[in-house]
Amino acid sequence: MAFLSDTLARVKPSPTIAVTTKAAELKAAGKDVIGLGAGEPDFDTPQNIKDAAKRAIDQGKTKYTAVDGIPELKKAICAKFLRENGLTYAPNQITVGTGGKQILYNALMATCNPGDEVIIPAPYWVSYPDMVLLAGGTPVTVAAGIETQFKLTPAQLEAAITPKTKWFIFNSPSNPTGAGYTRAELRALCDVLMRHPQVWIMTDDMYEHLVFDDFEFTTPAQVEPGLYDRTLTCNGVSKSYAMTGWRIGYAAGPVHLIKAMGTIQSQSTSNPCSVSQYAALEGLTGPQEFLTHNKALFQRRRDLVVGMLNQAKGITCPTPEGAFYVYPDISGCIGKTSAAGTKIVDDEAFATALLEETGVAVVFGAAFGLSPNFRVSYATSDDALREACSRIQQFCEQLT
Ligand code: PLP
Repeated sequence: MAFLSDTLARVKPSPTIAVTTKAAELKAAGKDVIGLGAGEPDFDTPQNIKDAAKRAIDQGKTKYTAVDGIPELKKAICAKFLRENGLTYAPNQITVGTGGKQILYNALMATCNPGDEVIIPAPYWVSYPDMVLLAGGTPVTVAAGIETQFKLTPAQLEAAITPKTKWFIFNSPSNPTGAGYTRAELRALCDVLMRHPQVWIMTDDMYEHLVFDDFEFTTPAQVEPGLYDRTLTCNGVSKSYAMTGWRIGYAAGPVHLIKAMGTIQSQSTSNPCSVSQYAALEGLTGPQEFLTHNKALFQRRRDLVVGMLNQAKGITCPTPEGAFYVYPDISGCIGKTSAAGTKIVDDEAFATALLEETGVAVVFGAAFGLSPNFRVSYATSDDALREACSRIQQFCEQLT
């Protein structure tokens, strides 16, 4: 009898870990490494949020709470959805979990049966397909490449839907591309979904607040109220409020789904950390100026990185609407040989050679299901970005 479960055989460890481990090894060996792999803001959680957490500890708010969130936080989340998205939800339509990741996992565990298909546009956040597999469903990935600015077209969505489709996972702005769908683009996808009442929409709005220029963030249930009863609107405080380590994510949706997700959580982790919930409450109800400041900072870095990468030979880097990632295409580098003699057969070879020869750590595109590309997280200082991009330019210049 095998010790490890068959479920485990269906999934793989996060491919991004290999890059991070290698970068850490090189750093430990004294090499000058610039990490552009981390998917988190490089600044600290705002002081008012930290203070709220300290107060919660001092006031003894350190016990078990309601499994899927304290009532005050659920109320604040309802207010957030109304204020920012024009969506009306009651507290019993809200669930709070240990990060956006647990929210998505709970939803898939609560709904996927063998044979159920989940449509995932590629490139995708690395966890979506593996979570679907863990939940016993079948991921159906659809490539949305550079030719459509990494956005799924209505025709592609229509073609991917079958009678077995249970969910469509939508992520805008996206990890790893930063691509954000305009209201009109989302409207067109919603029109397709309206024709297929068996399909539910799991929208991952984690990067809602990080949108640039005059881009307007919208979410499916807001654009098409007809989808409200089959949409799970997922969000969290990790990226917006620089709270990745606090582990608070949340979602809103139909009561029966929210209840089912709570059941999964009650038999796995129980409540998310009590202190973190009070911190998130302050994040959502306290001063919001922080968000505007961060947007301006990230927009400046985006422009810096896009400008410099487009000057690198063989690289094409579209300008994304949001998040803190760019996803340049490296078709022009494939088949060449690096200065140290590595054949660039694919994007993994590119990222490995780039790290070994220049000390710049990026994540290769195959990890996100669309090649040949790599992902840069520009959540690091302007100086580090400038230096990293100039090393990438040199690396590409020397390819023969
Ligand atoms: N969704 C997307 C698109 C993400 O990029 C991430 C984190 O990288 C998450 C969800 C998970 O967020 P959390 O850290 O709150 O679990």
